[in-house]
Amino acid sequence: MGSEFGNDSDSGYLKSVLDALPDQIAVINDSSIIEWVNGAWDRFYLENGGSPDTTWSGISYLACCQHDSLSEESEISTLIHGVRSVLTQSSNRFDFAYPCDSPTERRWFMMSVVPMALEGSPRFVVTHRNITQEKLAQEQLKELAVTDALTGIHNRRYFNEQLDLEWRRGERNRHELSLIYFDIDFFKQINDTFGHVAGDQCLTAVSATLKHYARRPGDVAARIGGDELALLLPNTSRYSAETIAQRIQSEVAELDMVLPLGNSSAPVTLSIGIASMLPRRGTGQCDLLVAADDALYNAKRNGRNRISIASEGLPLDLHKVS
Ligand code: GH3
Ligand code: MG
Repeated sequence: MGSEFGNDSDSGYLKSVLDALPDQIAVINDSSIIEWVNGAWDRFYLENGGSPDTTWSGISYLACCQHDSLSEESEISTLIHGVRSVLTQSSNRFDFAYPCDSPTERRWFMMSVVPMALEGSPRFVVTHRNITQEKLAQEQLKELAVTDALTGIHNRRYFNEQLDLEWRRGERNRHELSLIYFDIDFFKQINDTFGHVAGDQCLTAVSATLKHYARRPGDVAARIGGDELALLLPNTSRYSAETIAQRIQSEVAELDMVLPLGNSSAPVTLSIGIASMLPRRGTGQCDLLVAADDALYNAKRNGRNRISIASEGLPLDLHKVS
């Protein structure tokens, strides 16, 4: 540390302060050569398998970044480019959040480099701050914003976002996009007879069945509103969508849920509308929504507990699931 902080007792005091900070701090020169690191810098290195004999002074910081095996290649090159821009004084600050997982946990860090206000040759302060808690909280918030609170499947907002995305992907890749709408038959009677808690349980159980069929990365099971649910299936043919709908229909019939019918009862059933389209110019995702909605309406109008399949907007077939 030398006497840059004043007399020896001031210097010892400030060194203790810097060593006690949780952020990893280094001072580098304009060739990125490290001149000094604080205690957190050493501790992090040791905790991640580094040698206790390492002397940081004289090592190139950028060379360390280049050999960092904990981060992605593209992140390292962005970081290096950003650090250089400050060292060459083409920018006066660089901040960069990057993931850097340990073998046992997910971690993120915020790296910052700023020039020091010193006379003489230029020096820069590099800090690495662990921002894992903030990142995890952000991820949790993001997840909550796209999740339906009651059923745990996705909400309408996420469904709309993904529909937009998958429509464009389907257009690019010339893949058929299928949409299945589900509506619980006579759901109001379950609420009215057994109460809202039973109604909620019914909605949750049906949603869980749908979720089970959202198996591929682009598949989305969502609650659109009330007792209306949807399954968005990219790169899925009408035929495959129909098979999935039939399976869901029979699995729901086997759930331990009943629909009150006067003095008797029956298994809970679904009305289902399917629409499949090849996204292309001149069509839009609205056409797919309208076609699936029309098909669902058709299934309801024709007696419920059945699947109706739309062909480019026109419901074609009706299947009663026995
Ligand atoms: P249909 O066969 O025509 O679909 O008849 P239905 O009774 O299912 O249809 P309707 O649209 O009349 O009723 C849907 C009901 O869903 C009305 C509403 O009170 C209820 N509902 C909406 N959201 C919730 C919820 O979060 N929990 C519960 N328990 N009920 C809900
Ligand atoms: Mg209903």
